[in-house]
Amino acid sequence: MVLRDEIKEIAGFLGSSILIYDATLPVYPGMTVYPGDPEVSFSRIMKIESHGADVHGITMGTHTGTHIDAPAHFIKGGQTVEGIEPGILMGSSRLHCLEGIEKIEKSHLAGLKMSPRIIIKTGYLQDRPEHPLITPEAAGYLVEMGIGLLGLDTPSPDRPDFPESHSILLKAGIVIIENMRLEHIPAGQYHLYCLPLLLLGMDGAPARVFLKKANIQCNRIFRQYRKPSADTG
Ligand SMILES: [Zn+2]
Repeated sequence: MVLRDEIKEIAGFLGSSILIYDATLPVYPGMTVYPGDPEVSFSRIMKIESHGADVHGITMGTHTGTHIDAPAHFIKGGQTVEGIEPGILMGSSRLHCLEGIEKIEKSHLAGLKMSPRIIIKTGYLQDRPEHPLITPEAAGYLVEMGIGLLGLDTPSPDRPDFPESHSILLKAGIVIIENMRLEHIPAGQYHLYCLPLLLLGMDGAPARVFLKKANIQCNRIFRQYRKPSADTG
């Protein structure tokens, strides 16, 4: 089975029937951050004109843009970023569309095809103060199903009024990807590549995330960034 998957991978890269979606939010000063998190800033430290090279310093939070949550985000003494198994971050995944649902309940998930990695597209576009949430029962159902990773297009699986889902998922060792950019990606089966920065001892890390679909007669990378709006902060 593993060997067959590997052969399919190689065939996908050599052939022309491959489609890769970029599921990452761009990071830039003025972008939306979770209330209370540090704003993003880039500052030029060296200039080509005076130093012979351009170098910037970056300020941002560990949960900026598209990122993973490590268990240590909610669990005292929990596993930090470097302890997350790379095997969880890459492999077969299923993207489900549950758009327009404010509270994702167990009943919404019960009929869905499961996969080791589940990605839920809620349709949230970082443009409203309140984002959809996963109820504690729904989070418990995903734990019961034995998934290893949950990807979301929201900044969190829960909200201050329903705070438990983060802990339920992280305690079960489920890696959470938050703020995925999914508006251009249809439901379906994908190979996920989630590559977080190796920030030692940290509770989360910004990540580049791709979803690769094989066997489609197209050979291009979908980027389609929404143009960053003028700095707001
Ligand atoms: Zn987070």
